[in-house]
Amino acid sequence: MNKNVQTFIGCDAEYAEADIVLCGIPFDGTTSYRPGARFGPSAMRAESYGIETYSPYVDRDLQDVPVFDAGDLELPFGDTKKALTMTEERVAAFLADGKTPFLLGGEHLITLGAVRAVARKHPALHILHLDAHADLRADYLGEPLSHASVMRRIWDIVGDGRIHQFGIRSGERAEFAFAAKHTHMRRYDLTGFADTVAALKNEPVYVTVDLDVLDPAGFCGTGTPEAGGVPFTALLAAVHSLSTCNLVGCDVVELSPHYDMSGASTAAACKLTREIILQIKGA
Ligand code: MN
Ligand code: MN
Repeated sequence: MNKNVQTFIGCDAEYAEADIVLCGIPFDGTTSYRPGARFGPSAMRAESYGIETYSPYVDRDLQDVPVFDAGDLELPFGDTKKALTMTEERVAAFLADGKTPFLLGGEHLITLGAVRAVARKHPALHILHLDAHADLRADYLGEPLSHASVMRRIWDIVGDGRIHQFGIRSGERAEFAFAAKHTHMRRYDLTGFADTVAALKNEPVYVTVDLDVLDPAGFCGTGTPEAGGVPFTALLAAVHSLSTCNLVGCDVVELSPHYDMSGASTAAACKLTREIILQIKGA
């Protein structure tokens, strides 16, 4: 007899033997439009049993990779600063134990907690940011800690030229002006992603996938759907180019499962997560 403990499919290694640690951050406290991303990690774990552990794309299997699923971080309601500090501390603990952290969101602001810890360990950190939204607002309605400001807060840490944005098709004029000066931004699609990955070959890289980069026609399970996005196959091709890269941290955020009752969005998030895990070196 076994205890009923549900992990993401194929991620049932013990902590000591794992190279990669999955951790759910069920936080959507600053979501500006439709909340629900807090249900992302649990939905992904449950629905992951609908996909295979084997990837025919890369001929690798999650069962051959030691991944520990740390479950969800238990967060206080209504305290954004504390949620971020707890995320940062949890990621720092994984890094101190030599693990590569892989967070399941939750809204996009959780990336700030992770990057605070990862950038301390890797000061030369580069960020690969895939998103419909620039997320470069100085603040959102006066609040500097918002999912609409997450890349601006990360810029505060990593500085000019270290944030590489792809698929961006929404934001204020001021965000695009900021990007022209301080980040590398590719609008609308993922063209050039593989070239950027190749150029960063020897650098530590954190990849953050805001799932709303996908076209809402195929992926509607998210809080701020933005028309004109990339097809899943394009996102998959981008992810597969990560194999040459020194990935030191990852996240997949902004799945809001209840906005897609078909379950297709959650299934897409699960498949993408599997494919990213299988790109992590040493994995
Ligand atoms: Mn975002
Ligand atoms: Mn977004």
